[in-house]
Amino acid sequence: KRDGARVGVWDAGMAGTAGVRSWELALHAQLRAAIAHRELVLHFQPVQEAATGRVASAEALVRWRHPERGLLPPGSFLPMAERSSLIIDLTWWELEEVIAQCARWSRAGVHLPVSANLSARMLVVDDLPRMITRRLAAYRLPPEMLTLEITESALVSQPARAAAMLGELRTAGVKLSLDDFGTGYSSMEILKALPFDEMKIDKGFVMDARASLPDAAIVRSVVDLGHRLGLRVVGEGVEDEQSARMLTELGCDLLQGDALSPPLPADELAALLTSGGMGAVPPAPRGDRHG
Ligand code: C2E
Ligand code: MG
Ligand code: MG
Ligand code: MG
Repeated sequence: KRDGARVGVWDAGMAGTAGVRSWELALHAQLRAAIAHRELVLHFQPVQEAATGRVASAEALVRWRHPERGLLPPGSFLPMAERSSLIIDLTWWELEEVIAQCARWSRAGVHLPVSANLSARMLVVDDLPRMITRRLAAYRLPPEMLTLEITESALVSQPARAAAMLGELRTAGVKLSLDDFGTGYSSMEILKALPFDEMKIDKGFVMDARASLPDAAIVRSVVDLGHRLGLRVVGEGVEDEQSARMLTELGCDLLQGDALSPPLPADELAALLTSGGMGAVPPAPRGDRHG
């Protein structure tokens, strides 16, 4: 695999709370230093239009280039960051990086909207909308070039506050995506109450839909629901051709997964796009002034 293992190396073999605690403290200190020393990197996974194969956007996914342990997946350190205020530092870094990269691509003639994942903890950080709009302005990036992905579970603890914040971001022009749709408890309530532009069907359904009629039926209904609400629907975790075909037949607008492309370093993704290796690069829109 191009993008390293998906196992939480640090989550394995931990026994006893005292052990877990000192292990977590050590990891916490290491991650804090990693942010400062720029050991975190973003990889970008393209999202394709199902109908045309055109690359419509790319999702930023964080990795930790650990000096001894190699490239670590987010599952091995994000849960810990989310239990502390480190997630806030990590998110400021991540957003700055995503916006800067999108602006860099744009200057290089690659018009590629980006999406960033937002942790639940961030939905109660009151500075968030202001920080995002400031960074977008600093890079002269139109706000609609940025999509924020939020999971359903992020919205359950303080729904009113989260809704207010997301409303503010949406008013500022940023796009909102409901990630891992179908895995939470209050999907319908959330869809009804919040101004999403897009929903991403969780890869669990996507993977199972090939072999299971009930899962295929769920995917079809979710696509239909999304469309009736005016949302774009993304199928994620597309691991093979057959899934891609099936999701297209079930009406998904967009597809994302290792069968199309794994997450890649920014320069590799740009090279893939400009070489035409993944369908045409969309032209920059008219009146685009950031060149
Ligand atoms: P997600 O947002 O649902 O991201 C999609 C995950 O599916 C990524 O895992 C991606 O590498 C993986 N994936 C893509 N294609 C396939 C496929 O064909 N098969 C399978 N089995 N998996 C595929 P990753 O990078 O390990 O990220 C896991 C989760 O960590 C993400 O889920 C997201 O919730 C979170 N995450 C990642 N980066 C960030 C970040 O920068 N900030 C925050 N707050 N969360 C992040
Ligand atoms: Mg996501
Ligand atoms: Mg997801
Ligand atoms: Mg996920």
